This record gives sequence, C-alpha cells and structure tokens, in this order.
Amino acid sequence: MTAHVAAERTQPAGPAWGPPENGVLLFNGKALTNWHQPDGKPAVWRVENGAMTITRGDIVTSETFNDAFIHIEFRTSNMPEASGQGKANSGVYLQGRYEIQVLDSYGIRIPGKGDCGAVYGQYAPLVNACKPPLEWQSYDVIFRAPRVDASGKVTEAPRVTVLQNGKVIQNNVEILGSTVGSMDQNTGQPGPLLLQDHGAPLQYRNIWLVHLPPKGSDAY
Ligand code: MG
Repeated sequence: MTAHVAAERTQPAGPAWGPPENGVLLFNGKALTNWHQPDGKPAVWRVENGAMTITRGDIVTSETFNDAFIHIEFRTSNMPEASGQGKANSGVYLQGRYEIQVLDSYGIRIPGKGDCGAVYGQYAPLVNACKPPLEWQSYDVIFRAPRVDASGKVTEAPRVTVLQNGKVIQNNVEILGSTVGSMDQNTGQPGPLLLQDHGAPLQYRNIWLVHLPPKGSDAY
C-alpha cells in the first residue's frame, strides 16, 4: 500500500503538463520547430511519440534567455555495458554555456562533479535523485544570469538552483564560469538552451521556460 501511494506521488511529470500561462513552449512534441544546430544548420534529431531522440549534433533553441525558470524532461538510454561518462551522457546547457549534466548515474551512492545533476566539473548534486534508465525524469531549473558592467566585466556570477524529480540537487550555487563544451564565451549575453549530443540516444520532452525579470520593484 505504501509503495502504491509513493508511486502515485512520483508521477506528476508528463507531456500533459506544458508551460504555465506566462511560459514559452520550446518543444511541442511534434517537430523541432525553433531548434537548430549551433552553427545554424537544421536540427536532425528524431521526433516521435511526443519526444525527441538524439541522433547527431548538439541542438539549440532559437529562443534565448537571461534569468529563467526552465522545465525539461529526459530519459536516459539503457547502456548496461557502458560506464562512467560513457553511460547515457548528454547535457542541458543554460545559455549554451553552463552544463547541467545528464547521465545515467542511477544507484551511485555519492555522485560526483561529473554525475547526473552536476554543474559539470564544478558542483556535484547534493543527493542522487536519479531514476533508472528508460524512466522519464525532470529538471526544474532556476537560473540567474551573470550580471556584467558596461565593459563586459562580470559583477555578479551566474547562479543556479536545480530540482531533479522534485528533489533539490543544486541550491543556488555560484557558477564558476562556462563549462566544457560551452558554445561561446559571450558571458552576460542572452543565450539559448543547448542539448548535448554525447553519442547516446537519450530522449527529451516537455521543454518550456518562463522568462524572469532581473528584479522586483522597489515598492514596499
Ligand atoms: Mg554531458
């Protein structure tokens, strides 16, 4: 009985969700409209059954953002023969520069800076929130873009909070600079969401974002 209740509680993510009223739908489950390769060529990932499957090349959104709340769902491939960084590797790059790692890290007792949910190479996830391969999982990301002055110098580093499957795995960490595989070094400029092709056929679905204003009003 307990298990049954727990199963129901872990079921909220799904294509039916979609963005809230003020959100921007980035993938409609039918076509890669508004996605392309970083060099501008058409995206060639396969789309079927409401999901996109990695085939070849990173893809980016035409939509760019600064501060944002981003929802994305992913499904790691089942690669029992692979290990470490070869096990269903992909990644979600914020502004095309800061990778939240996607990997099959299911069951790893103490995940590291390269595991699923890590700010790649910088911060390990606080806990291992991974589901087994082939199960749909979600990231809910609150991203605060870097602040730069008129000369382009960073005055406030970017920050990120990440929930994986509803569990907090990154708590407002200060991102230390663009991660490996960053599409550019245009720190402080708006950037797209980039999904990484690392040679494994993972799937993504139900991707949307809400643009956030840089700050609230000064009113009391
Ligand atoms: Mg990766």
